[in-house]
Amino acid sequence: MSRTARRSAPKKRRTSRQTRYQALLRDPRWQRKRLEIMQRDGWQCRQCGATDKELQVHHRWYRGAPWEVPGTALVTLCIGCHGRQRRHERPLSRSR
Ligand SMILES: [Zn+2]
Repeated sequence: MSRTARRSAPKKRRTSRQTRYQALLRDPRWQRKRLEIMQRDGWQCRQCGATDKELQVHHRWYRGAPWEVPGTALVTLCIGCHGRQRRHERPLSRSR
């Protein structure tokens, strides 16, 4: 009886930057850091002052891991303002 040839499955090493970043954001160190920032900012958007929207912590710049940047590089934004920060060049093609 012949043994079934062991298939050497090619390892997929294509972790996109996006996926890696998402994984980093699940890190407890970041979870804690972002809570610190939101607390510092009084649980409101630093741009529009909203307190009734989902809040996110925006990186003004990056250096190493998300939780390694100084507090000055982080700012609390609501989901709306954060989205605008990210893609501020959005075509206004959609009519209401
Ligand atoms: Zn806002």
